[in-house]
Amino acid sequence: MNTNPIPFLDLVTPHVTLEKELTEVFTSVLRKASFIGGSYVENLEKEFAAFCDTKYAVALNSGTDAVRFALMAAGIKQGDTVVTVPNTFIATTEAISQAGAHIDFVDVDENTSSMSPQKLAEYFTQKCDFKNGVLVSKKTNSPVTALVPVHLYGQCADMDPIMELAAKYNLKVIEDACQAHGAQYFSKRQNKWLAAGSIGIAAAFSFYPGKNLGAMGEGGAVTTNDESIAKYVKMLRDHGQAKKYFHDIEGYNGRLDSMQCGFLSVKLKHLPAWNEQRRAHAAYYAKLLKEIPLVKYPVEPSWSKAVFHLYVIHVKNRDQLQQHLNDQKIATGLHYPLPLHLQNAYKHLGYKKGDFPVTEKLADELLSLPMFPELTDGQQKVILDEIKKR
Ligand SMILES: *Cc1c(COP(=O)(O)O)cnc(C)c1O
Repeated sequence: MNTNPIPFLDLVTPHVTLEKELTEVFTSVLRKASFIGGSYVENLEKEFAAFCDTKYAVALNSGTDAVRFALMAAGIKQGDTVVTVPNTFIATTEAISQAGAHIDFVDVDENTSSMSPQKLAEYFTQKCDFKNGVLVSKKTNSPVTALVPVHLYGQCADMDPIMELAAKYNLKVIEDACQAHGAQYFSKRQNKWLAAGSIGIAAAFSFYPGKNLGAMGEGGAVTTNDESIAKYVKMLRDHGQAKKYFHDIEGYNGRLDSMQCGFLSVKLKHLPAWNEQRRAHAAYYAKLLKEIPLVKYPVEPSWSKAVFHLYVIHVKNRDQLQQHLNDQKIATGLHYPLPLHLQNAYKHLGYKKGDFPVTEKLADELLSLPMFPELTDGQQKVILDEIKKR
């Protein structure tokens, strides 16, 4: 019997460790009462752009709005169709709908859990028509204008073939990098490692507390190398104004406040080390899990350096295993138990079970094990011993 509970993630330790620096940010903002905008915002944007190897980063109130604003700034219009995967958090598709676009899905690859380039290629030839030279989705009967690959669990989608297909069909690529701060993708086309968030025309990040880089509240960002996209996202987050009280468009209140930006700058300095710790834990899990043939564990393709936002295994008797671990006070998660095309919220899209069989199979078998920088070898051994008992 395991007597020390093992949490799914530890949000207390990193903040207690950084308490002095974080409190300095709080005190400084408090004394100046500069709550919105200012140097903390600008500094974070510079630092995060540098971290993602992009020219620009725009701080926002959430990752969901980051996806939405990135789509809008990339020119996705009311009535367009945007293609993504059903194996993601609903924020991805909420952002597409809220940008005014229709959602179309392609299934994922069984080994990576992310967008399958092969299924994407089939989507264009089987699920689309050319009408007057425009690529139109048969399902939505509207022009397909963008792709949103999701770098799920902290591993980049296989971007080379996705970018190639996007170029062939003249589509914008917006990366949903909300789980992938610091992940790397080796591009054979460019013969170099690329940072998540620097590959598409724009990318969205989330600073939700549990993400690899988390605020002490809500937050997000758009990264891009395109100056006009960065400018447009800045207008969208600030009521459509570039100059105070002169509104070129109707925008939103999507700003990230100064205090959160200051906190994020403190934490960003530690992110490379935290990501390395996650990678080390993943390697250790893999070493231990190798001995259990019934468990499928994440294997990085040669093109991937993942940052393991989540460590997701696949097993046939998942519910039983999760119950057993729960009984042993080992916390686990399901990311995600019900594919988006089968959610009540998307009943109107008319999908049924069997439409995306890989996503559905993964959903039945996936189980997220504890994963956070402070996880210890000892805890990982306990987890593995309990998995072996099943
Ligand atoms: C967390 C997340 C989002 C949304 O981010 P929020 O900051 O919570 O709005 C979007 N997409 C994915 C894949 C996520 O994991």
